[in-house]
Amino acid sequence: MNELIKDFPILDQKVNDEQLVYLDNAATTQKPRAVVDAVTNYYYHDNANVHRGVHTLAERATAQFEDVRKKVAHFINAPSEQEIIYTKGTTESLNWVAASYGRTFVKPGDEIVISYMEHHSNLVPWQILAKKNGAVLKYIDLLPDGQLDMDSVKKQITDKTAIVSLAHASNVLGVVNPVAKIAKIAHKHGAIMVVDGAQSTPYMRIDVQDLGIDFFAFSGHKLMAPTGIGILWGKSELLEQMPPLEFGGEMIDWVQLQETTFKKAPWKFEGGTQNIAGVVGLGAAIDYLESIGMDKIENYEKSLIANILPELVKIDGLEIYGPLDPSKRTGIISFNLKGLHPHDVATALDMEGIAVRAGHHCAQPLMEYLDVTATARASFYLYNTVEDGQRLVEAIKATKEFFK
Ligand code: PLP
Repeated sequence: MNELIKDFPILDQKVNDEQLVYLDNAATTQKPRAVVDAVTNYYYHDNANVHRGVHTLAERATAQFEDVRKKVAHFINAPSEQEIIYTKGTTESLNWVAASYGRTFVKPGDEIVISYMEHHSNLVPWQILAKKNGAVLKYIDLLPDGQLDMDSVKKQITDKTAIVSLAHASNVLGVVNPVAKIAKIAHKHGAIMVVDGAQSTPYMRIDVQDLGIDFFAFSGHKLMAPTGIGILWGKSELLEQMPPLEFGGEMIDWVQLQETTFKKAPWKFEGGTQNIAGVVGLGAAIDYLESIGMDKIENYEKSLIANILPELVKIDGLEIYGPLDPSKRTGIISFNLKGLHPHDVATALDMEGIAVRAGHHCAQPLMEYLDVTATARASFYLYNTVEDGQRLVEAIKATKEFFK
């Protein structure tokens, strides 16, 4: 995919006198010209508020806004575009499920099951819901290599479980979780299955029907769309039963002095003016990804990781978190160099022009579980190359030598 680099002007720069290698894609991805141009064109030619106007620009903006909804439905194989809700991102999507579905349907004594590897966005909303509704929050254990422990899955999900909510792919361990299998277990016990797709959607073909789940959340900015736009997909029979959370313009059907009726889903959840330019950018990002093919993207990243992981494993004193089998993971590799703080490692790599992240990655309970305070994290995407991986390997070796 080396030829893709030309689509990303930001990658063509030096950082600290070295050619930039951007390996912080799990935090956010770079945007191709096609996405930037789509947003610019929208502002230059079509900008208007959606749904409200009868003039030509308003009609054009509305058509684009609603066309992207269809595009997203197709992208994740949702049965209907009316199940696609625009949000700010994964965080907002998951908060809405917890606040709208959760507060309405979770009863005192019910159980909510998540895992130790969850991002705070798929943890704190459930913690708050559990406290508010008198439910119990339970955690699925991990195996030593970071995969979900299926024995623990079977133990934690019981007839008391109301909601199971899991990351499809971990933002720290890189591991891909068997959410379809777990959804079957959840459903057998009468629970619903929520999936945090923030790290899987950029990386693999998503088919929400095939996964057999009830809700799916993802963020546009992690798959080359602008920031501030994300998606919540939910089964229509659930969305219809859920109350809206933000009241005001756009989401209403009829307002009288003492009573209001609301639109149907998805519009009842989209109160106020939406991030229309973000939606346009998301549509362009999906077109870009589809033009390459999600299967090709997944295979490419797997081959990158298969190339880089064995080199990293050979570095004495480098601890790698998550499974070492490339077939079980995405392009995310978290690591620590023995005796060094990951912030120092990330700073040393930055001096070599290599952008990685260091910290708790919004997964503090996982850090505690792994018995570390933080890790460094290199995350690859489709514009990264084997050479980028080699640069990382050499820079980690040099960092180790430097601090010896
Ligand atoms: N879930 C996972 C697994 C993530 O990696 C992230 C972001 O890093 C989120 C949720 C939250 O995404 P956002 O900040 O785009 O809402």
